Amino acid sequence: MLLRHTTKEIKEREGLTINPAKTCQPIGAMYAALGIHGCLPHSHGSQGCCSYHRSMLTRHFKEPVMAATSSFTEGASVFGGQANLLQAINNIFTIYDPELIAVHSTCLSETIGDDLKQIVTKAKDDGKVPEGKEVTYASTPSFVGSHVTGYANMVAGMTQQFAEKSETQLDRTNIVAGWMEPSDIREIKRLAKELAAEILLYPDVTDVLDTPQTGKHDMYPKGGVTVEQMKTLGDSKSTISLGNFTAEAAAIALEKKCGVGFVSEDIPVGISATDRFLMALSKAAGVEIPQSITDERGRLVDMITDMQQYFHGKKVAVFGDPDWIVPLCEFLVELDMKPVHVLSGTPGKRLDKRLHELLDMDVPDANIKNGASADLFLLHQWIKNEPVDLLIGNTHGKFIARDEDIPFIRFGFPIIDRVGHSYFPNVGYSGAMRIVEKLLMAIMDRQDRDAPEERFELVM
Ligand code: SF4
Repeated sequence: MLLRHTTKEIKEREGLTINPAKTCQPIGAMYAALGIHGCLPHSHGSQGCCSYHRSMLTRHFKEPVMAATSSFTEGASVFGGQANLLQAINNIFTIYDPELIAVHSTCLSETIGDDLKQIVTKAKDDGKVPEGKEVTYASTPSFVGSHVTGYANMVAGMTQQFAEKSETQLDRTNIVAGWMEPSDIREIKRLAKELAAEILLYPDVTDVLDTPQTGKHDMYPKGGVTVEQMKTLGDSKSTISLGNFTAEAAAIALEKKCGVGFVSEDIPVGISATDRFLMALSKAAGVEIPQSITDERGRLVDMITDMQQYFHGKKVAVFGDPDWIVPLCEFLVELDMKPVHVLSGTPGKRLDKRLHELLDMDVPDANIKNGASADLFLLHQWIKNEPVDLLIGNTHGKFIARDEDIPFIRFGFPIIDRVGHSYFPNVGYSGAMRIVEKLLMAIMDRQDRDAPEERFELVM
């Protein structure tokens, strides 16, 4: 009983979060920045923030994550961090020679009131940014939002600062990638290739956070979209944003700046969300969906049909990030499962609305909550009051799973006690097959474990 102090009785709490279901904004900003080729993320704050954010990404991806820091001490905390950041920009270009520095703020620099736009402009005016190099920035205070907000802010900021429109109209669709694993981004690109759709996808962390082992450390791996490519975003004919919470803000920024229209889609998890994404891409790019993709869908439907009886009526508790739990809950309902507890630490009325739209008909009594007070303590209490057959969420859920003896599927960010997430996708029809396999393994392993000897089946 690691969480032995969790009580069954639920009391309204406002000023206290216990075991939050979210993390710092800058982690999202750092992750988004790594999807740009040759980028060194820079944390404008104290060393502790930067160390924590790097270590979370390193633990999740099992890859070294490079980032610099303004290294605030008492002086910067009182007088402001401009001098630190100006010196940092100079040092970074001189010593580490990145193509781009992506600066994000932290709680401390936001509280002081440092203006990143003004400081970066001064750095350029003072000649601290070499010819052909770039510095971008985003405001990411952790006392509002979550890592999800930080990702959205950095992608929108880079779009706003780099996108340009020329006289040349390209027969190309932009895809703004919400917070996905490198494996998921590879799958999106594979699907676009199957459709023969011309795309520019960004940020792109493939070949940055899933690099092959060569025995040699590469400070700037070969992957990532280049700044030069990002400057052509305004020449594409349209944009698809994948993830209402992490990608849509960038699509809005691009439309405002360059007039490129967009459609906002969910990250393609499960059948319906993948259908919607492929239809949107097919329409935007003016291409047909090939038979090979239709066959993939058919294999997924066949797999689900074969095993439907194991899903029927199973109660599930889900927690995680909005862009993932929305399409996941939709998929669970399609599988005839019941997401009875759904929780996210990321705030926003829109998430609550979407989840109610998805669940009110099939799971009318579901517990749904998001924001700072939607924490893992509350999720545990919900489960004590209404037990579930499965728990789905990031690594932090393992304590609840152990205490309540519930099968647990790791899904989302961070996963710091298992591997595979960065190599095997959860998106698209093939990703949905992987999710189905994981669900079945968890459910059927538990059935085997708990079956009395006379009911123990060889063939299931
Ligand atoms: S909560 Fe704020 S101060 Fe703490 S690690 Fe995150 S960004 Fe830094």
